[in-house]
Amino acid sequence: MSRRKDWDTYFMDIAYMASTRSQCPRRRVGAVLVQGKKLLGSAYNGAPMGVPDCSEAGCMLVEEYEVKVANGREEMVKKQRCIRTIHAEQNLLLFTDRSDREGSTVYVTDQPCWTCANMLANSGVTEIVYHRTYPKDKDKVTEMMVTRGIRFRQLGDYTPPSGIDGEVTN
Ligand SMILES: [Zn+2]
Ligand SMILES: [Zn+2]
Repeated sequence: MSRRKDWDTYFMDIAYMASTRSQCPRRRVGAVLVQGKKLLGSAYNGAPMGVPDCSEAGCMLVEEYEVKVANGREEMVKKQRCIRTIHAEQNLLLFTDRSDREGSTVYVTDQPCWTCANMLANSGVTEIVYHRTYPKDKDKVTEMMVTRGIRFRQLGDYTPPSGIDGEVTN
């Protein structure tokens, strides 16, 4: 095992640990900020402090249509999404300093959505490492990261710590 991979595994494991704090049953996401080999912050998706979260008030669902390609044909698929929480990446930005973020790496359990990717792109972070894909925004996020010159890579050969079930249920 290469040295690089050891650190990747270490920090992604911590991101998964952070994701277990999430109270949204539909999606548990964790993210950590790393500068060099130093952990500078961790966050998960959740309601603002002092506000009832998904476990207390239930998810706040919105419905939206998504284009899916099936058997070479485009289809409109109706999807539900919980908008009660501040996303893990956004919380991470709220809880860290700009000076700490300059040239840093974010490890996040899930590929960032478009809004989070946009914010990360303007945050000083120069590398984003994720594990699970988020097909909805994949293409436009990847394109933006290339344009912005941010290293953006998926940890392919990785298994989350056993017992952590962060799987998306929708
Ligand atoms: Zn929720
Ligand atoms: Zn997001």
